[in-house]
Amino acid sequence: MSETPLLPATLRSQFPVLQQAIHGQPLAYLDNAATTHMPLRVLQAMQDFETRDRANIHRGVHTLSQRATDAFEGARATLRRFIGATAEHALVFTSGTTEALNLVAQGLWAGGPGRAWLRAGDEIIVSGLEHHANLIPWQQAARMTGAQLRILLPDAQGRVHAQTLAGLLTPRTRVFALTAGANATGERPPYEDLLRLAAQAGALTVLDAAQAVGHGAPQLAQLDCDFLAFSGHKMYGPMGTGVLAGRRSALERLYPLRLGGDMVDWVGWQDAGFAPLPARLEGGTPHVAGAVGLAAAAQFITEVGAAAIARHVQALRAQALHGLQGLPGVRVLAPHATQAALVSFVVDGAHPHDIGTLLDERGIAVRTGHHCAQPLLDHLNLGPTTRASFALYNTADEVQRLVAAVAHAMEVLQ
Ligand SMILES: *Cc1c(COP(=O)(O)O)cnc(C)c1O
Repeated sequence: MSETPLLPATLRSQFPVLQQAIHGQPLAYLDNAATTHMPLRVLQAMQDFETRDRANIHRGVHTLSQRATDAFEGARATLRRFIGATAEHALVFTSGTTEALNLVAQGLWAGGPGRAWLRAGDEIIVSGLEHHANLIPWQQAARMTGAQLRILLPDAQGRVHAQTLAGLLTPRTRVFALTAGANATGERPPYEDLLRLAAQAGALTVLDAAQAVGHGAPQLAQLDCDFLAFSGHKMYGPMGTGVLAGRRSALERLYPLRLGGDMVDWVGWQDAGFAPLPARLEGGTPHVAGAVGLAAAAQFITEVGAAAIARHVQALRAQALHGLQGLPGVRVLAPHATQAALVSFVVDGAHPHDIGTLLDERGIAVRTGHHCAQPLLDHLNLGPTTRASFALYNTADEVQRLVAAVAHAMEVLQ
């Protein structure tokens, strides 16, 4: 596995958190699909803002307020470039993917009679690969409006197919929601084709890019994508930050959920006029330092090179796949998924929680459980899994330690 393309080793020194021992062993942090770490330059960008420019935005004529506004709007511009937004797109800051997806689903049913875009008899299609954050809001949207929720089920290998989607689309389909990468299995669905198909059928399209942005942000200009959601903390940025971007015409359909300051044009006692995008969906004081840190993270990814990061994490996944498949009794999910950045697996006769605990004793951080995708794992007839997920700072040596530690855990547990 010496052909693992190495990113500059100096990159790792940007992440002080990785330079520690856990239970006397060097930390091997392989839980990046849950949260990545931040390079020093992201922390520095946030600290610079907080110690030099901090003030509330948009309302002030004083210098700090203007600087803070410039920092916030500059972050927006950087992130727009990062996802290939054009003049027809808008970008709003959120607290993460979960808030962004809730903003879409609730924004399509809220607002009262005659205002909601979703109606009784409409159909919503959600893929079966989704994180709960891209399922539960749609369950509620269906319940609140009398729309029907349909699931684009994956096959036994965990793949979703355009043909299956074509069979589900009808003239009543109003929404199609899909992930750009399944966090429970690593599957990377052909989202370009699936979104196009749904858009051609007249549906609004929603793409959850939480698992993709760290090594291959979907590009809005090239996609039939009305709504794109992602989180900062899975792309080397701060926790509690994220983005909802998409077509202006689609974002304008959303009833704003955060009503208050900064999102209105005029206010009377009985009514108010909402501001145009993006302010319309950004009521209240935003996490400005977070937006600044998120933009610094996007810049960092761009400079390292998303394609180089993708090659790196995919090579680590291939190495882990190869190593784990060599252990009798280990079954890796979605073994065909060459673009995956994570490896999710089950072990005969050993519970993932026990495996995770034994791995932690060797300094190896992995995630175990249902990965917020319980219906998917049920559909595949699987219980909880163990998941190792990779980022630009991980090494082939860490993957070797992972495989050896799983082999050891199997000896202990079986
Ligand atoms: C992590 C994740 C989410 C939720 O992201 P938050 O940052 O917790 O809001 C949604 N979808 C996918 C695919 C994820 O991996």
